[in-house]
Amino acid sequence: MSAWRLNSLWMDQLDEPLTPRASLQQDLDVDVAIIGAGYTGLWTAYYLKRHAPQLNVAIVEAQTAGFGASGRNGGWVMGNLLGDDRMLAGFSAEDRRASYDLLFGIPDEVKSVIDREGIDCDYRKGGALYCAARYPEQEASLRAYLDKLYKQDLTEADYRWLTPEQLSSQLRIARAYGAIHFSHLATIQPARLVRGLARAVEALGVPIYENTPATDWQAGQVTTAHGRIRCRWVVPAVEGYAASMPALARYQLPVQSLIVATEPLPASVWDEIGLNQGQAFGESSRQVTYGQRSMDNRLIFGARGGYQFGGRLRENFDLSTSEVELRRYLFGELFPQLKKVRITHSWGGNLGMSRRFHPHMLCDRSSGIALAGGYGGEGVAASNLGGRTLADLILERDTPLVHQPWVIREGGLKALKAWEPEPCRWLGYNAIIRSFVSEDQTLADPATPAWRRKIAMGVADFMEGFMK
Ligand SMILES: Cc1cc2nc3c(=O)[nH]c(=O)nc-3n(C[C@H](O)[C@H](O)[C@H](O)COP(=O)(O)OP(=O)(O)OC[C@H]3O[C@@H](n4cnc5c(N)ncnc54)[C@H](O)[C@@H]3O)c2cc1C
Repeated sequence: MSAWRLNSLWMDQLDEPLTPRASLQQDLDVDVAIIGAGYTGLWTAYYLKRHAPQLNVAIVEAQTAGFGASGRNGGWVMGNLLGDDRMLAGFSAEDRRASYDLLFGIPDEVKSVIDREGIDCDYRKGGALYCAARYPEQEASLRAYLDKLYKQDLTEADYRWLTPEQLSSQLRIARAYGAIHFSHLATIQPARLVRGLARAVEALGVPIYENTPATDWQAGQVTTAHGRIRCRWVVPAVEGYAASMPALARYQLPVQSLIVATEPLPASVWDEIGLNQGQAFGESSRQVTYGQRSMDNRLIFGARGGYQFGGRLRENFDLSTSEVELRRYLFGELFPQLKKVRITHSWGGNLGMSRRFHPHMLCDRSSGIALAGGYGGEGVAASNLGGRTLADLILERDTPLVHQPWVIREGGLKALKAWEPEPCRWLGYNAIIRSFVSEDQTLADPATPAWRRKIAMGVADFMEGFMK
């Protein structure tokens, strides 16, 4: 059995043998060399070849297509970007709506490609339910968030409030104070998407060299152990793995997200819980939780993250008992009937966080470097936008995609904001996360007096301010 199957439930579920593609064994001359066969690299190759079939594009991948976060994530195809409300706040109402329409349309664009290419990845567009599920302050913060969105002219067709009764027609949790329903979101089986995309890209004439780490890259050249690629464009599409590349390490930090899957649950349990239209769900606290019901009726539940001193990548994702049990505790708070359920799979992955806490799509024509990333754990759909945008930038197509606030066309890599050196990052990360954990614990205890609740929220607000 291939060790890659152990990367996630999703890789384990693939019905292909995971035989590695050939590695690079000779020098090449191409127009575009892409490093990394995750969604970003593959979407970029896909749109480049769709628009310019004559272009020579090659991909080198250190392991196999989908080895990284693309084969391990929670399967939320979100029609938005981390920080989009901040990035679009200064736009005119008309331009902002046009940008939101672009973002909201990403799941449909993904669907049109998977239909065209015959990629079966369990796509279901059921929206997302962001729930106030454990303490009343969650309702207040979700309502404040909704107000902010409505002030940006978004409507109930995009985000709408659900009362506990309305929520219960879709999802039944132990304590519900209400929820936001976000319409523009689909769920998928992530590994099937990335593996299907790899096949689609190959069919368009793009070779993918697996087991071929780029050992070095610079303008016009990518070096590997047994072959050098000369090229007009280099696209490092490595997201969380940027930490292993000196040119990128300062701009994108690896953060780990951890996730578990239960055994398939009987229909009687799902009758109690709901989620019968492919909805994603999350519980609204400052620390991320995300879940979905898989096509084979498992609960998939991810929560919280980690950061290792010095931005070290985590390689071993055999989760410890306490890591698994924390996730069990969190989903057990929502679904008490699942507290003792059997967890069959647990895993995690490295994702990339930019210092501005929003994604970037960067193209430097003078050096021939183009990259998209910094998705901050929300890259399944964002990478589709990234791939489309990089293709347009490289091919000099003047489309709405290249005029968005997340696009950088001047200044090269230096236009990205660098992270502070260690130990500042580690101390900063831990101080922020500690304030979030303390807020969560304080608020989750109904006996906590109002003044302590206020202090905990104030401290967390203050710490969150550093992330903006
Ligand atoms: C547990 C988890 C849950 C997540 N859940 C969600 C979610 O539900 N929704 C969402 O939107 N986002 C989610 N994300 C984030 C999302 O998965 C990523 O943003 C997205 O997959 C990034 O795709 P990518 O192609 O940029 O990077 P990756 O998929 O990480 O691909 C990078 C590739 O580069 C290769 N590589 C690295 N170094 C080299 C080298 N030197 N030479 C050659 N190849 C190299 C790696 O092997 C890897 O295959 C999650 C992430 C994790 C880890």
